[in-house]
Amino acid sequence: MAQLVYSSKINKIRSFALILVFAGILLMYGGILTKNIEWLMLIFFLLGVLMVVLSCAVYVWIGTLSLKAVPIVCPNCEKPTKMLGRVDACMHCKQPLTLDKNLEGKEFDEKYNTRRYQKESKKNK
Ligand SMILES: [Zn+2]
Repeated sequence: MAQLVYSSKINKIRSFALILVFAGILLMYGGILTKNIEWLMLIFFLLGVLMVVLSCAVYVWIGTLSLKAVPIVCPNCEKPTKMLGRVDACMHCKQPLTLDKNLEGKEFDEKYNTRRYQKESKKNK
């Protein structure tokens, strides 16, 4: 059985932004390679710039997310980490973490972050 590895949400978004930057640079490089064909070069460059701008936006978004994230000390590796939502994973050791006492000891599941689950758990109380 394949075991799912949950990585911290902030880390996930950060690697996504990094991929965007590289894709943007790669596209601009493609633009240089196709400089003989003016319209193709222009398209490559525009797409490249667009991706880099988008990744900047994602980085700003991470910044605001980090402000909202709750800083905690991981009980497993004792390093400071941040968590988003009710359940998240430690940035360093991937230890599943929860802020909700009701979920303690339960198997880690992304569904605990969904609105539907939060509504249902409110009903049960
Ligand atoms: Zn940890």
